[in-house]
Amino acid sequence: MTLPEGPPIRLGALDPQFSREIKKLAGTDFHACLQCRSCSGGCPFSDHMDYMPNGVMRLVQLGLKQEALSCNTIWICVGCHTCSIQCPMAIDIPGVMDALREKALAENIEAIEPDILAFHREVLHSIARYGRTHKLEIMLRYKLKKRDLFSDLDVGLRMLAKRKLDLSPSRITDLEAIEKVFRP
Ligand code: SF4
Ligand code: SF4
Repeated sequence: MTLPEGPPIRLGALDPQFSREIKKLAGTDFHACLQCRSCSGGCPFSDHMDYMPNGVMRLVQLGLKQEALSCNTIWICVGCHTCSIQCPMAIDIPGVMDALREKALAENIEAIEPDILAFHREVLHSIARYGRTHKLEIMLRYKLKKRDLFSDLDVGLRMLAKRKLDLSPSRITDLEAIEKVFRP
């Protein structure tokens, strides 16, 4: 089996402080990475990524800040953990992706996949409001912002017909607990 490969990593400005910061934010030691590439071989979204997940581990090991924060991999990753359950070193790879997204936003680095960021924001908005995701509202808000209400209409109608989308949201009772999570 041929494992997917990303672009070659070119050594630029190395920032060890960045590497330490991401390690702390992610709570996992990516320096233990062996570059076995099991993560990239199993990732269901690797075809859409520029750097493969193992490549991102190398970027953060080396402290290649600009490359790590501006690659599309950190936005394409859906946090499914398929990679981390196969990792022989038990590295929390999606945790690293999450830390990199957080850092990219904190540093106002333009998301290379703005639609994905917009979708994340709608999901968070729904959780902040109801304590749960209300998928129909998430999709409608997202589509409205994109000014593209009709492109997936057939899929939406089929989901509604199969009762996969609730018309009204369900709320958790303890919304105060959710409020605390979102408090800065
Ligand atoms: S968590 Fe991200 S990197 Fe890992 S397999 Fe899933 S999509 Fe790929
Ligand atoms: S599976 Fe783990 S050890 Fe292997 S390349 Fe990926 S992160 Fe590194």
